[in-house]
Amino acid sequence: DVPVLTIDGPTASGKGTLASAVAIALGYHFLDSGALYRATALAAMQAGVTDTDEAGLARVAAGLQLKFTGHQIWLAGVEVSDDLRQEHVGAMASRVSTFPSVRDALKALQLSHRRVPGLVADGRDMGTVIFPGADLKVFVTASAAVRAERRHKQLISKGIPANIDSLRADLEARDLRDQSRTVAPLKPAEDAKLFDNSQLTVDQCVAQVLEWWEA
Ligand code: C5P
Repeated sequence: DVPVLTIDGPTASGKGTLASAVAIALGYHFLDSGALYRATALAAMQAGVTDTDEAGLARVAAGLQLKFTGHQIWLAGVEVSDDLRQEHVGAMASRVSTFPSVRDALKALQLSHRRVPGLVADGRDMGTVIFPGADLKVFVTASAAVRAERRHKQLISKGIPANIDSLRADLEARDLRDQSRTVAPLKPAEDAKLFDNSQLTVDQCVAQVLEWWEA
């Protein structure tokens, strides 16, 4: 059985950074499941499929031509890593991800990342829906203020102008949508380790997760 470690949590909780660092430390594969929803959103926008057209969105998700190479993501042969990180793509991804048929269409693709020697999967429902039998489930949280600050710093460092209050409002709206949707709502698995990282450095978070993993 290929070991799986899931790391779920809300927007900008630092779970992506944490999950990819843990994957490197363990020498495991890394699945950024949010990238699949973002790629669906981007491909839909390119194809002129709107965020209310569930059947159209599910078709886009099922037909995604996605490739991961190291830190780069390719959509239909085009490198889209930076495009996927854009705020409007994330907002579209959040709306797209509310549809059950879109989530179903992306399920097999997510499961296919479970390969030797192991997988660290980052998302919202990795521990609850996609990998319910995972060996370790972590649910990361941080206060909205801390998350808005982190996102702000990230954008500014890339030279992208950002306003901390509107970032916070946007991530709170996204949390609410992720938590209140009927399919795969954002919530910790019953057997997840809850982990508030508001006051911790990335290194401290990685050390904690590795300690749980090795226990
Ligand atoms: O994690 P990230 O912000 O890249 O995800 C983008 C959006 O995709 C989230 O706001 C969430 O609505 C959705 N998502 C999801 N299930 C996942 C990963 C992401 O619904 N496993």
